[in-house]
Amino acid sequence: MTIDISTVPAQLFIGGAWVDGSEGGTFSVENPANKQTLGHVASASVADGLRAADVAAHALVSWRKLAPRARAEILRAAFELMMVKIDDIADLIVLENGKPRSEAIAEVHYAAEFFRWFAEEAVRIPGYISTAPVTGRRIIETSEPIGVALLIAPWNLPAAMITRKVAPALAAGCTVIIKPAGNTALTALYLCDLLAQAGVPDGVVNIIPTTNREVVAALLKSSPVQTVSFTGSTRVGQLLMRQAVDRVLRCSMELGGNAPFIVCEDADIDLAVDSAMIAKMRHNAEACTAEFSTKFAQKMSDLRLGDGMDARTQVGPLASQSALQGIEDLVGAARSDGARVVTGGDRGDDAGYYYQPTVLDNVSPDAAILQEEIFGPVAPIVEFSSDDEAVLLANAVEVGLGSYVHSGDLGRAMRIAEALEVGMVGVNTGIFSDPAAPFGGVKQSGLGREGGRHGMLEFLETKYINVAWS
Ligand code: NAD
Repeated sequence: MTIDISTVPAQLFIGGAWVDGSEGGTFSVENPANKQTLGHVASASVADGLRAADVAAHALVSWRKLAPRARAEILRAAFELMMVKIDDIADLIVLENGKPRSEAIAEVHYAAEFFRWFAEEAVRIPGYISTAPVTGRRIIETSEPIGVALLIAPWNLPAAMITRKVAPALAAGCTVIIKPAGNTALTALYLCDLLAQAGVPDGVVNIIPTTNREVVAALLKSSPVQTVSFTGSTRVGQLLMRQAVDRVLRCSMELGGNAPFIVCEDADIDLAVDSAMIAKMRHNAEACTAEFSTKFAQKMSDLRLGDGMDARTQVGPLASQSALQGIEDLVGAARSDGARVVTGGDRGDDAGYYYQPTVLDNVSPDAAILQEEIFGPVAPIVEFSSDDEAVLLANAVEVGLGSYVHSGDLGRAMRIAEALEVGMVGVNTGIFSDPAAPFGGVKQSGLGREGGRHGMLEFLETKYINVAWS
């Protein structure tokens, strides 16, 4: 470990200054591997949130006018700084979130890549000129930054879920207020410090960790905020959309999914097993081969559970007590519905929030565990007998984020991929996250896309200018 946690900022960052909350409150951040307190972070009040919005609105005046090339160079500097500080950031992610350090390192690369990608996109803001149907007129379409953006992030990717929003917002010319998840606030605060070092002017990036729900509600109700970009659960996304409706604010919502993983009998089973493992065991595996189930269960039971800081660890603790409880409840309900535990099925060492890698089979197609999002190392397996049945099962949920298909017949895999009601599909691969690709879901998995060509559009508004002459 390289990080000295006492050097990580633990205050609010507003207008380029680190400050305590105006009401003096703090909250603690815990290490899920040993339940010890890592530090105390200042908690923003409603007044702090509103001040951050005013400061961001003031900073917007010059930031939006800054040459796109100059904004791009600051983003590029942020990418370089993240690479210099990769060990510190990875340490913070392991300490707060619990994931194994190798996964934390991979997350920092992924997170930093958004700064590099959007540094390149900042100089490609779209526009269009067309000839009007009548003579003597031109239609000019230009893109303008929406304004002050409120960015709300979850805990599961403490660095990447912040950079995936901040990078396109800054590239587009917006200024931002970040509300990180409380249990991973230190990573977010560290990244804000890096952005300041990279040359982001005062007031362009502000961060307001808080445990007070009224802060976001007040910002949406009446403040200069013009758009809210949220990643988190569908329930909270719906709540924020209701709060945003009175001011008709733009909403970008990256919400929950349940990622069906479909393995056909003609698949390369070893590749499918490896993909399912890479896809981090979060998925509802639907397999039509017993061979897949057996090999997958074997690999799951071989995984080493432990503190993410231990280089031998392959699965860390869950991020919190409530996450652990949620997994226990889901597995318990599936078992009482008739599911069989092939491997795992219990807590690990009580020193932290550990849960054993678990595979369930004999899962009934209407079991709650297939409807809900599983945030833990648990894979329920459902058998199917035709491709149509697999698609029907996968589509029988209200969410549609990502999905995976494995088949030796590319045409068959593509037919299934196109029939799935989701925003993203991995064909013969367990990884589809890529800063160059549009990430997002359909149905109750959200609105809008992050990353790729689409990411910056979430922070741009189209203005049309009609030019007439005689
Ligand atoms: P969550 O919805 O509980 O919280 C997300 C964020 O919203 C946190 O910062 C939290 O503090 C804040 N929040 C919670 N209640 C709030 C309220 N009433 N008002 C304002 N802010 C509030 O989700 P989580 O448990 O932190 O994260 C896990 C969720 O994120 C999962 O559902 C997962 O699928 C989703 N997620 C989605 C994507 C995607 O791109 N679609 C990516 C990662 C995670």
